[in-house]
Amino acid sequence: MNNPHLQQAAVIGSGPNGLAAAIELARGGCSVRVLEAQETVGGGTRSGELTLPGFVHDICSAVHPLGVASPFFRTLPLASHGLEWIQPPASLAHPLDDGTAVMLEKSIAETCANLGEDAAAYRKLIEPLVDDWENLFADLLGPIRFPKHPLTFVRFGLSAMRSANGLAKSHFKDERARAIFTGIAAHSMLSLDQAFSASFGLVLAVAGHAVGWAVPRGGSQKIADSLASYLRSLGGEIVVNSRVESIDDLLKPESAVLCDLTPRGLLKVAGHHLPKNYRRKLERYRYDAGAFKIDWALSEPIPWKSAGCARAATVHLGGTLEEIAASENSPSKGKHAEKPFVLLAQPSLFDSTRAPEGKHTAWAYCHVPNGSTFDMTERIENQIERFAPGFRDCIIKRKTSSPADMERYNANLVGGNINGGSQDIRQLFLRPTRQLYSTPTKGLYICSASTPPGGGVHGMCGYFAAQAALKGG
Ligand SMILES: Cc1cc2nc3c(=O)[nH]c(=O)nc-3n(C[C@H](O)[C@H](O)[C@H](O)COP(=O)(O)OP(=O)(O)OC[C@H]3O[C@@H](n4cnc5c(N)ncnc54)[C@H](O)[C@@H]3O)c2cc1C
Repeated sequence: MNNPHLQQAAVIGSGPNGLAAAIELARGGCSVRVLEAQETVGGGTRSGELTLPGFVHDICSAVHPLGVASPFFRTLPLASHGLEWIQPPASLAHPLDDGTAVMLEKSIAETCANLGEDAAAYRKLIEPLVDDWENLFADLLGPIRFPKHPLTFVRFGLSAMRSANGLAKSHFKDERARAIFTGIAAHSMLSLDQAFSASFGLVLAVAGHAVGWAVPRGGSQKIADSLASYLRSLGGEIVVNSRVESIDDLLKPESAVLCDLTPRGLLKVAGHHLPKNYRRKLERYRYDAGAFKIDWALSEPIPWKSAGCARAATVHLGGTLEEIAASENSPSKGKHAEKPFVLLAQPSLFDSTRAPEGKHTAWAYCHVPNGSTFDMTERIENQIERFAPGFRDCIIKRKTSSPADMERYNANLVGGNINGGSQDIRQLFLRPTRQLYSTPTKGLYICSASTPPGGGVHGMCGYFAAQAALKGG
């Protein structure tokens, strides 16, 4: 610990970043207490019986390429605290209307084999990044700084700074490679014409080959439970059912408060401790598209037209680049796509603990305007029927979650935004402000996905915020 005065810390919120921050602080010799508003730990990594007894659904995150690739999680003994990653045979399936599916396989050669005339172009773009993925992710999953591995970083950056549409159209000739790449990039929740939207496609495609798009056995709750168990083994304390309304009683000399909150949450609990100009910056922080989500209890596996779709836990439903781009343009215009791009997960195909014998679960969401109250159920299910006729006949029960439901569930999901705020060029690197993890108030830090490197279950925001607190920065 570089700051010898830091003896204790309170972490507000037990999402993956809150727990990661607490672990790093405890490892740095600090006495740590995590205060969580809800009755269970986990934030965006919780699971529950949302539909019927015996059906375990992931309430937020479901598929975890960044969880497996996280440079911080990789240093933690999470397997001995109950976390087991399941690797489906393929990382991703992207069905098309001709009845085939474009597959993101673990192997680059097998992926190229289903990309026709774009095989060589795909290999040229992805292979050098996969070959050096550990160094690349060490540079990418954190605050912007001079890269430790400049050559790979520059190679990545030249493509990553482009829009997903621009990169896909200039690099690939055929519909198949263009479709799968833009579908992956759509995880950004950005319009695919925006600069840097390609970066999300590249990072997740590289992770698909390097570590796989894995699911945790038993549900994403197991990630949170293993982090919490490891934290307790280090002496950390977690108090659930403990919503913090104000940091007044927590901010003390020789202590730090780390907030696993968005700028809006930070203003709520600590606004009166912050100078006016910093408060204004937090108020100007933007939260873009929201998500409309459905969880289903199913009587049988989804009856995909393409057999390939049953080999991946993640299936992207949106057809061609043009259709996906139109869908992802809609939220920023305040519109709801007629044919939304749907991100679907089917973990029970690979994890029998998720549903009663012979039964299945599925999870899907699409992007909608922030705070939307429009019911996308029919449009999402139409997209699944398009590639899996008979899907509706398999539904035993469904649970829908609108952006407002999500925000009620977790205040960090502002207007249903799942990434801790917009990740466009203005907020991708300097989030929530130029000060990143620290604030003008001594001892007060922000450690949520509203700091670099942003959304996803990887714990890196928490790790870097804890480092800043330990250094007294
Ligand atoms: C529908 C959905 C699907 C997603 N899918 C994926 C996916 O497949 N893969 C992936 O990697 N990521 C996914 N994500 C994103 C991922 O869940 C988030 O990026 C991640 O959880 C952010 O972690 P965090 O620790 O910053 O915040 P959170 O996980 O939001 O945790 C914040 C915690 O703080 C608590 N809290 C809030 N206010 C207070 C208060 N005042 N006092 C005490 N506690 C408080 C909340 O209850 C919560 O537990 C998804 C998110 C959603 C919503």
